[in-house]
Order: sequence, then C-alpha cells, then structure tokens
Amino acid sequence: MAVPKRKTSPSRAGMRRSHHALRAEAHAECANCGELKRPHHVCAHCGHYDNREVVGAGKEAKGVVRV
Ligand SMILES: [Zn+2]
Repeated sequence: MAVPKRKTSPSRAGMRRSHHALRAEAHAECANCGELKRPHHVCAHCGHYDNREVVGAGKEAKGVVRV
C-alpha cells in the first residue's frame, strides 16, 4: 500500500483547504412575485418565467429547486 512519506504540516493542510470555502449560490428576484429564484429557472413560488405563468401556481415543478 502506498504510504505518504511525510506528515502533512498544518501549513500544507491550510494551503490545500484554501479552496474549500463555500460560495453563495446565484439568485435573482422574481419579476412577478419578488421571491428569490435561481437565474434562468422557473420561479418555484409562482411558476412564472419571462413574465408569464408556465407552471400552475402551487404545483411543484419538476426539477425546480426552492431557494
Ligand atoms: Zn415568482
């Protein structure tokens, strides 16, 4: 079995973890209801996209993730 030759120093571990921070997910306000929604996605709250209703209100749209 391959075994690391040296212990990872706290400095090295910190350098590796410098890329592990979480980033805020992209979001935009729905033009119809003002709820936060994902850009280029149907609004999960009111079912609107491009200023018209494309999914019945209240119905859970397939593939839509609530923000
Ligand atoms: Zn909406």
